[in-house]
Amino acid sequence: MNIAILGYGVEGESVYKYYSAAHPGSTFTVYDNNPQPTKALPEGVGFVGSVKDFKGITADLAVKSPSIPPWQVETTGELTTVTREFLKRCPAPVIGVTGSKGKGTTCSLIKAMFDATGKKTWLVGNIGVAALDVLDQIAPNDFVIYELSSFQLWDCDVSPHVAVVLGIESEHLDVHKDFNDYLMAKANIAKYQKSDDIIIYRDKNQYSEYISKVSPAKTKITYPSESAAHVKDGMFYYGESELFSVAALRLAGDHNRDNTCAAISAVWPSLKDAFDMERGLETFEGLPHRLKLAGTVNDVRYFDDSIATTPGSAIAAIAAFDVPKVLILGGSSKGASYDELAQKIKANEQIRRVLLIGAEAPKLETALKNVHFARFTNLGPSVSMADIVQSASNASEPGDIVILSPACASFDMFTSYSDRGDQFIQAVQNL
Ligand code: ADP
Repeated sequence: MNIAILGYGVEGESVYKYYSAAHPGSTFTVYDNNPQPTKALPEGVGFVGSVKDFKGITADLAVKSPSIPPWQVETTGELTTVTREFLKRCPAPVIGVTGSKGKGTTCSLIKAMFDATGKKTWLVGNIGVAALDVLDQIAPNDFVIYELSSFQLWDCDVSPHVAVVLGIESEHLDVHKDFNDYLMAKANIAKYQKSDDIIIYRDKNQYSEYISKVSPAKTKITYPSESAAHVKDGMFYYGESELFSVAALRLAGDHNRDNTCAAISAVWPSLKDAFDMERGLETFEGLPHRLKLAGTVNDVRYFDDSIATTPGSAIAAIAAFDVPKVLILGGSSKGASYDELAQKIKANEQIRRVLLIGAEAPKLETALKNVHFARFTNLGPSVSMADIVQSASNASEPGDIVILSPACASFDMFTSYSDRGDQFIQAVQNL
């Protein structure tokens, strides 16, 4: 076969390994936006660089990277993706998790609860292993948990058995055509389900509710909800069944209780064992760069929430702590509006100061001025992380917290959100 790999990104090597084993003797060509391959190509693989769009590609099979918009591609043969291939071939039930924020955390919570029962589970996708690398090791009695972004779902015509749809807000408008395109991509998690599948969706999020309606699944579970997973009097419940104390959850914030309700909803139908679920939850201490304590200096706690690249996740971070706080906001644009974030900041009397950084600082400043919030300092587009953390230290008082929860992407000043978070942790340690 003549196989084209469109975009040789994070999963590139895995794609090559899988398809060269599935179709031995095939000819492979990588097509990429970059002029040169960003990592070494296997021997004998052709390379076409500086590709503007992926039209006119002659191949029997083309495998598209998630971040290439489907409308940029035109090939003579079959077009597929890693996610589509995996969902088509996986022998075990798959729990797919999507939503704008909380996917990684919710997937990890689901896995932690399953693992405590001794069940074999596979965490694949962004925070797990490359899906195709493990496909041939998965047995029918295992469980697969797949973190699914809008890019992975974009042109996917297979849906997982259990679809978990967390809250949806405006995201990735720098890549998607518009919000509708983003929502329709997400909806593919549900659209191709079967009637005996399960969909779990976020209560009072109209987009998540919309996706639940797209699903042919008969079992539709909303969360949090009195009839399914919810929190009451400091306890998690599933319907009438009291499960365990919220203290079992070691992550801060109501948003993480919500994520846990989503995870419980996904796990309960298969486990129905509160004891194991509680033991599982207790083992999970959170993922790096998600509201993680970076250090305590002069009785001020510094939290690294660098992955908070949307206004919604910054709003969740602000609400997670009931003490005075200094907030670091800004970075590069993902096309979001900051109006709601500005209103929440204005309404929260515990915000001692907001420090604005990066390319989006002027837009954030305008949003804060529009709500007549004045306790901010614009540190400009190219301030160093050491200076940012020093300014936060100067602005805070003992007992306060400082949160880096930028509501923006990182690419103006850092190579990635993890680079931004690592520099923050280092600067806190240097204080
Ligand atoms: P994702 O994988 O969807 O990016 P993560 O679990 O990695 O989500 O969390 C990313 C960021 O979003 C973190 O800052 C986290 O605190 C925040 N977050 C997690 N869950 C929610 C939620 N339910 N609502 C709002 N923000 C959330």
